[in-house]
Amino acid sequence: MILECIKVGQLEANCYVLAESAGSGAVIIDPGSEFKKIRKVLSKHNLSPAFVINTHGHVDHIGSDAEFKVPVYIHKLDAPMLKDPELNFSSFFGAPFSVGQDAEILAVNDGDYLELGKIKLRVIHTPGHSPGGISLYLEDGAKKILFTGDSLFSGSIGRTDLAGLRDADLVKSIKEKLLVFPSETIVYPGHGPGSTIGDEARNNPFLL
Ligand SMILES: [Zn+2]
Repeated sequence: MILECIKVGQLEANCYVLAESAGSGAVIIDPGSEFKKIRKVLSKHNLSPAFVINTHGHVDHIGSDAEFKVPVYIHKLDAPMLKDPELNFSSFFGAPFSVGQDAEILAVNDGDYLELGKIKLRVIHTPGHSPGGISLYLEDGAKKILFTGDSLFSGSIGRTDLAGLRDADLVKSIKEKLLVFPSETIVYPGHGPGSTIGDEARNNPFLL
C-alpha cells in the first residue's frame, strides 16, 4: 500500500494520499491547499484521484477539495462548513473561502465504510473539535492505522474554543472511540508527527 503524508499550507495540515499500488486510484485525505504539491505526489506513483475525504470542515483541510474533480466525502454535520466562510474559519483568517459550486459533496456517518479496491476506511464520528469531525480506521495487512484529523494529536488534542465547543466532549470522543483500539494502532493526525494509541493513552496530558 502507498501512504504519503504531505504538509500543506501555512498551518501545515497533513494531507494523506492512500493507494493500493502504483498506477491505481488514490484516496486523498484533507487536501487543505497546495493542489500542485499533492498532484506531484500522485504523479510520482502514477495515481489517479478517486475521491477526497475531509476529516472535518476547517479551511486548512478543505482548500483544494474541488481541484481534483472527484467526489468529496465529509460528515453530514460538517458538510455546511464547505460552503460557509464563517463556519470553516476562512473569514477568521482574512481570506473567505468556500468549496467550488461544482464539487460533488457526499455525506458520511459513523460506521460507514469508504472503499477503493483493497483500501477499506471505516468512518468513526469523533465530535468535539468540530460537530462532524471524523477519524478513519484502516487495516494494512497486520498494521492498524487511525487518521485522527484534528481530534487527537501526538501529545495534544484539537482546539474546541473556536466554535464554542467543549474540551470534555472531545476528550469523551477520543476515550470512547479511539483509545479503545489496540495500543499498537498507528495514529496519523491532521497536524504534526504520528504516534500510537498506546503512547497517547499513556502520555497525552489531555487524556490522563
Ligand atoms: Zn481543524
